[in-house]
Amino acid sequence: MKIVEPKYEILTDISEGGIKELQQIERVARVCYKSEDKITPDGESAKKLVGFLVKQGHEAMLEHSQLSVLFTCDRAIANELVRHRIASFAQESTRYCNYSKEKFGGELSFVKPSYISDGTREYYAWETVCVDAEAAYLCMVSDLKLRPEQARCVLPLCLKTEIVVTANYREWRNIFKLRTPVAAHPQMRELMCPLLLEVQKKIPVVFDDIYTFWPADDQTRKGSMVK
Ligand SMILES: Cc1cc2nc3c(=O)[nH]c(=O)nc-3n(C[C@H](O)[C@H](O)[C@H](O)COP(=O)(O)OP(=O)(O)OC[C@H]3O[C@@H](n4cnc5c(N)ncnc54)[C@H](O)[C@@H]3O)c2cc1C
Repeated sequence: MKIVEPKYEILTDISEGGIKELQQIERVARVCYKSEDKITPDGESAKKLVGFLVKQGHEAMLEHSQLSVLFTCDRAIANELVRHRIASFAQESTRYCNYSKEKFGGELSFVKPSYISDGTREYYAWETVCVDAEAAYLCMVSDLKLRPEQARCVLPLCLKTEIVVTANYREWRNIFKLRTPVAAHPQMRELMCPLLLEVQKKIPVVFDDIYTFWPADDQTRKGSMVK
């Protein structure tokens, strides 16, 4: 079995300083106010207008945008991601992927939760489940000739998956507001908090009002810090 780290990758090209993305929203929004004459090529008018839209709650204008992110996470976190109904998804399929095949190295991949430290009793409990699940799956597919979509029933939630989430900025704002606070699952926060910080750097204004206590005041590893 393989143990993989959770990660994300922004798939959408973002222009230098995120100016083109803001100008797209500006172009659309200025139709409402018939203020196209206020557009400046340096992007300053776009920053100002988009900041105004966010502050006013005129977030419908942010829907004229798109951001795709590829997450590598476990199935449980992916289950939470797909609850965001406005987003679009593409996820690694346990029906069509046969993990006994060569291209998967004939093994399964699992995400170890960061709150389980190597060498602890929790670790061995977790690892045992993964080892047993892998053995059962490979036996069902290779020896008993079940299809992957049948053998997958023995796989745990910590099975690694890849999922692309595509959404407009309005929806990403909603996702960040729900998935970065301490109330969110620690493994969700590990992905969403750094992603939020990165998009705040790459795309001005749009996400600036969403604050995350991360990594400072991080409670993700609270359990392990107590020990
Ligand atoms: C901390 C936390 C704990 C959770 N615990 C549970 C749990 O125990 N059980 C559980 O089932 N789920 C749970 N969830 C998931 C939660 O119920 C939502 O399904 C998930 O957060 C998606 O939120 P959303 O509906 O705002 O997002 P989206 O589906 O992305 O929707 C975006 C926005 O569009 C609007 N919208 C979308 N659909 C409709 C609609 N039909 N009618 C009106 N407006 C709509 C709303 O304004 C919504 O906020 C939890 C989520 C969090 C963050």
